[in-house]
Amino acid sequence: MDNRYSWLEEEWRQMEQEATTRSLQAVEPSFEAQGTWIFVEGRRLLNLSSNNYLGLAHDRRIVDAGASAAHRWGAGGTASRLVNGNYALYEELEKKLAVWKQRESALVFANGYQANTGVISALVGRGDIVFSDRWNHASIVDGIILSRAKHVRYRHNDLGHLEELLSRHRHAGRKWIITDSIFSMDGDKAHIAELVGLKERFGAMLIVDEAHGGGVRADEGQGLCHEMGVAKKVDVLIGTFSKAFGVYGAYACADQVVIRYLTSKARSLIYSTALPPAIIGSVLEALSLVQTETWRRDTVKKNAVLFRQMLRSRGFLVGDGDTPIIPLMLGANELTLQYSKLLSERGISAVAIRPPTVPAGRARIRFTVMATHTLAELEWAADQLAAIHGELMQSDLASFVPSCIGQPKEG
Ligand SMILES: *Cc1c(COP(=O)(O)O)cnc(C)c1O
Repeated sequence: MDNRYSWLEEEWRQMEQEATTRSLQAVEPSFEAQGTWIFVEGRRLLNLSSNNYLGLAHDRRIVDAGASAAHRWGAGGTASRLVNGNYALYEELEKKLAVWKQRESALVFANGYQANTGVISALVGRGDIVFSDRWNHASIVDGIILSRAKHVRYRHNDLGHLEELLSRHRHAGRKWIITDSIFSMDGDKAHIAELVGLKERFGAMLIVDEAHGGGVRADEGQGLCHEMGVAKKVDVLIGTFSKAFGVYGAYACADQVVIRYLTSKARSLIYSTALPPAIIGSVLEALSLVQTETWRRDTVKKNAVLFRQMLRSRGFLVGDGDTPIIPLMLGANELTLQYSKLLSERGISAVAIRPPTVPAGRARIRFTVMATHTLAELEWAADQLAAIHGELMQSDLASFVPSCIGQPKEG
């Protein structure tokens, strides 16, 4: 018997035991419901796991703009932007991005993963030191590893810890602070204004990833840094078009000297094909809608606050907040999978998030709300969750259910 892969099978069995294996499922979105309902294996599910916060992914204007761009410019980017792939469409988008973000220049990347790895590995180098929030997105972590800089992780959102580390390393090389603006798995916000204060005090540079702030925060959806009024003091603002914009792609905004340098140095930009014209066409339309259709931003925020209240009033402990990411902390992997499975059986798609995406023992259901969810849909989902909790308390998994989850509050 050929067992070249016995080591993989061994590792896989280990993963099965820890309930950390993953698999893919075919999904069919409902255009009619603007993506708030999806079909999975023929069953219609309320989508409570989408990053399409503003409900733009199935907006006909955005889809049509992409189709028009494909007809005008072709199906593919045909080459790296530094070779022959840099159609005028890109420059139009970058000009508009810089105006929207009130920064000198912008540079479009293929996606958020490539923006983070490209920007960080280009700007940060050997001999530098990076202070990174422990819960930062994996693409930030990978960018830091590629940079070969010293990597120091501070406790999540713990400014005191960061200050202590900055102080301890005050004589080290060039210093960088890097953070998500809204944390992707917890939905809490970084203390942006305080981070700007620390950066200035210690002479560090600050990079903020607005993947989950873009589109949903500030008057025109520029992100949390703009809402806090400190966007000009952040050295590099990164954002994506794959979440609230409902499309794909990403960008960095910064001073012109920084963008000029990145254009010549960011390997993920240089050694990868330009995004297809259809994507840029759609993104241009999405950018205009993000800026002007403010009802989407207002509604997603309202839904975020109200869904938290709905869960709390049914006894679930969820933190305060107004971001669309609402984690229901369950702890154990197996239990979290079971919640997700039972939710699916009741018509709700809410995915189990497990290690290594989150730390061990912090598995959760990550609910996300959209501007296009109705309050009736959210109420119904909260009712289903309460019913499932009741079922699980009767099952042999009951001992894994944390005592703080789902206990009806007094009164
Ligand atoms: C999703 C995400 C990314 C990656 O963006 P993609 O465009 O999906 O590659 C980067 N940073 C954060 C914080 C994210 O949540």
